[in-house]
Formats: sequence, structure tokens, C-alpha cells
Amino acid sequence: MDKAKHKEMQNQLAEKELVEFKKRLPIDENIFSQLFDFLDVELSQYGCDHTTILTKKFLDKNVVVNAIDVIDWLEDNGGGCDCEVLANVEDLFDYLNLPIKKTYPTNQIKKQKLNGLKTDFGFSIDKIPSPWTLTETILGNSKIYNFQIGKSDSCVAGLACDFPITQLDNDKFWTDLWIRETELSYNLDHLTVERMEFENYFAILVKTKDWTPVKIWCIRKSTEKWFLKMTTELSRHKGDIKELEKLISHIKTE
Ligand SMILES: [Zn+2]
Repeated sequence: MDKAKHKEMQNQLAEKELVEFKKRLPIDENIFSQLFDFLDVELSQYGCDHTTILTKKFLDKNVVVNAIDVIDWLEDNGGGCDCEVLANVEDLFDYLNLPIKKTYPTNQIKKQKLNGLKTDFGFSIDKIPSPWTLTETILGNSKIYNFQIGKSDSCVAGLACDFPITQLDNDKFWTDLWIRETELSYNLDHLTVERMEFENYFAILVKTKDWTPVKIWCIRKSTEKWFLKMTTELSRHKGDIKELEKLISHIKTE
């Protein structure tokens, strides 16, 4: 095997491990960063009494509902007490500081629930049909709009611009996009592309029996200015497509 090929395989392996690592995290990776910052301050003041009392205090303060899972996970990863959490676990999250990843300090992120939305690119909805909720997230100068079903983020439909309309019939484009967005790098032989048509919309669906994520790009026939990009899970996507149809029936025609 030549060197370049070997290097490429190593990169793929590291990428695969990172994907697996992220999948097994009991809470969002960004909450871990906040925990480490908190422990930095508290430990310098109180020291470690060889329990996880400060970690528990943080989880309690931030209303983390699965705190027990987090404590178990930390222990499995070498964080049996507060000082070990910093010494052994923090390094596992070094990837968060890679320059390619844009992270915002939490005080620059603003999130709010909306009851309706009208944008300057012609998207308009007056009422959000249940079980959907609409959230606006402000990150620095950009606004992100996400519809989601229920409280978990298992099914999210984001409002997006610049639909790649010229690629509509190009299956490879859509499977490649699925791969890029899921960051999955192996077991990709069974990816399929389906095209659906709702009343005023076209939709492209990419999934595989080998992985959980299902992606759907849904565009209105009368405009290319915006579209909905939905991510859901294999086991539930059929029900979610019905909900998507309901959601788009509430979007106003201009
Ligand atoms: Zn300790």
C-alpha cells in the first residue's frame, strides 16, 4: 500500500471513530464544553473531594434530565471524580476546537419559538400545525429557522435557500450530499434516491437500510428561492413525511 492511500485510510478511520463517539454522547457536545469551563473555575476554588459533586451541581443547575447517564458516561471515560473529568475527559472533545468548526460563545446564540414567519424571500406561514414547532436561532449575523416535531431533534426540517435545481435528476448528486451531511463514510452501498410529489411540491428522499439518517429535500414548484431540508430517522420517516405534507399545506401561496 502506498503512503497516500495509507494516510487516507487512517483519516477515514479517525472520521468514523469521531462519528461513533458523537453518536454515543449522552448530551450535546457543547454542554460538555460548558461543564469543563465550570469545573475549571470551581475546582480552582474548592479543589476536588474525589467525588463528582461539582459535576452533579452543574448538571442540576442546567436541568440536564439524564444526569445519571452523563455521570455513568463520564465514569466510563475516565472521569470518576471532578478532577478526573477535567484531566481525562476534556481531551476527548479537542475536536470542538478545530479551526474548521465554527463555534459560537453561548452568549451569542439566541433561540426563540415562533408562532408564524414571513421572510423577505417569500416564505410565509401564519400558523404552525402541531406536532411541529418553529424555532428561530440567531448565530452572530445569521438566522436559522427550524421546524421540528416534538421536543427531541429526531425530526427537523430547516428552511434553506439556493436549492440545486439543476441537479434535480442527478441521483449521484443527492447521495453524495447525504454522505457529506451525515459524515458517514462506510456501508454506503444501499443508498437509494426516491422522488415524491406532493400537491405543489417536489421532494427528493435519500436513505439506506444500513444507517439511521433519512434526508428529504422538499421544494415548491413555483419558487426556487427557498426549500425545506428535513432530516429524520429510518424507523419513523414514513410518519414524518405525512407530517411534512401537513406542514407544507400551511405554507402560504404567494
Ligand atoms: Zn478528583
